[in-house]
Amino acid sequence: MSIMRRGVCLVIAAPSGAGKSTITRRLLESEPGLSLSVSVTTRAARAGEEDGVHYHFIGQDRYDAMVAGGALLEWAGVFGKSYGTPREPVEAALSAGRDVVFDIDWQGHRQMRAALPDDVVGVFVLPPSLAELERRLRGRGTDAEAVIAGRMAAARAEMSHAPEFDHVLVNEDLDVAVEQARAVLVAARLGVKRQVGLRAFLDGFG
Ligand code: ADP
Ligand code: 5GP
Repeated sequence: MSIMRRGVCLVIAAPSGAGKSTITRRLLESEPGLSLSVSVTTRAARAGEEDGVHYHFIGQDRYDAMVAGGALLEWAGVFGKSYGTPREPVEAALSAGRDVVFDIDWQGHRQMRAALPDDVVGVFVLPPSLAELERRLRGRGTDAEAVIAGRMAAARAEMSHAPEFDHVLVNEDLDVAVEQARAVLVAARLGVKRQVGLRAFLDGFG
């Protein structure tokens, strides 16, 4: 028997290129109860990105209708494009005791904390240095030079929000970073507030 619990909202944020997608992917591969919140975005798909898997790629009209209709849990503009988190899959997962990981920015984290204060656990991922961040952005090979320059300029602003999160980690060694993120998830699952079935479980002892 286990205690019935509510799911965890694990929000992972970082400056673009710090490795949050890689960390998230590794967690998803090894944590069966965890699913990714697939955001909507008005930006174009990059090479290798699949509609419905990495993002739902939608037009601005559809995006505006989702915002107006309350279909997004949080939404924000990032790098001149619009992003948002569909509400329904998150609410369904949490009440079923399934955990959800979010690859969103600091603006999304702030809104998520306001919307779901007892469910959100925020992790901010830092690069070991700005030089390494730039190397990773280049190494990814998916962005044009001007885009990389824009992301480097935005990195400091994004990192200034790290203190708003519950946990911060430096992604130097990927294996270490993944285990640190997993430790946060495991501890969050055990939070007393999340164990909605605790009383019933104790009653079962007679
Ligand atoms: P983000 O999702 O934060 O934008 P990615 O996960 O796409 O970043 O990572 C950016 C690049 O850095 C990728 O090519 C990835 O393989 C690489 N990377 C991620 N973590 C590390 C690490 N600890 N050491 C070296 N390279 C890394
Ligand atoms: P990218 O275009 O590189 O996939 O993502 C750019 C930035 O937008 C990243 O910091 C990413 O975390 C953030 N982002 C992606 N989806 C969402 C979302 O649904 N909401 C918010 N607030 N940010 C998002």
